[in-house]
Amino acid sequence: MLAGPSTIMSKADVIRSSALVTAASIAISLVLTSLALLFLCGVDPDRLARTAEIWINGLVIGAVVPLCVAPIVTWRLLATMRALNNAHAELDRLVRTDPLTGLLNRRGFEEAAETAIAVARRAQTPVALLMCDIDHFKAVNDRHGHEVGDRAIRHVAALLAEAGRGAGAVIGRHGGEEFCLLVTDLSIRQAMELADAARRACIEQPLALGGDASPMTISVSIGLAMAAHDDADCASLVARADAALYRAKAEGRNRVEREAA
Ligand code: GH3
Ligand code: MG
Ligand code: MG
Repeated sequence: MLAGPSTIMSKADVIRSSALVTAASIAISLVLTSLALLFLCGVDPDRLARTAEIWINGLVIGAVVPLCVAPIVTWRLLATMRALNNAHAELDRLVRTDPLTGLLNRRGFEEAAETAIAVARRAQTPVALLMCDIDHFKAVNDRHGHEVGDRAIRHVAALLAEAGRGAGAVIGRHGGEEFCLLVTDLSIRQAMELADAARRACIEQPLALGGDASPMTISVSIGLAMAAHDDADCASLVARADAALYRAKAEGRNRVEREAA
């Protein structure tokens, strides 16, 4: 499991640790310098008076060296920490991103959806979840190959993302050729309109295959589930939208079905 951002030292922690180490180095250095001088000069007052300058220089050097070294070490530590934080943020992003489409993956979607649902709960607004599935996708792979299949998935992902953008939808690839969109603050009629606009966008913008091949029309079926702000939770919305999607498939595909009342 990945460590959370809080487990990496903050800038303040590094500076605080560095100041502590510097203070400790100075103290140790002063003690060692004093012991060395005592050992060399003994405790004879006359001798001590004669070697006072050596003492003072020794103590000053003992204090100055750590003070000079500490900023350099701290600066290097901060640079390393910054690189570590950047790598950690990138890893965090990758863990939540679907590499094929660039959308959120299932884990990323569920986290973002839970956050959006929590906001909807506070604002007391309804939540809608659209489960979209490409129709007869296996036939696309079988007829055109996996590479075209991947392009089809990317194409539909971009169209769905575009369709949901205006409504501020959270969108993710749920897996395979299935996508989830979560929108808040829409009435059931508005959510149905959004789902139908997404469905039409797919039909109306076929995937260009290049060469002499005619563009490939791809349809999607969509299941819609809605919840009031106070009983919305991502897992149950997904399950209910999935049941509605199942009906959309059974009713002939390329259509939107909302969950049975
Ligand atoms: P339906 O209309 O009932 O949804 O039929 P379908 O053929 O779309 O559904 P089915 O579940 O039978 O097939 C989905 C296919 O999607 C099977 C799997 O090989 C393919 N698939 C899943 N992920 C990927 C992917 O990342 N790339 C490609 N090219 N194909 C994928
Ligand atoms: Mg499917
Ligand atoms: Mg399918």
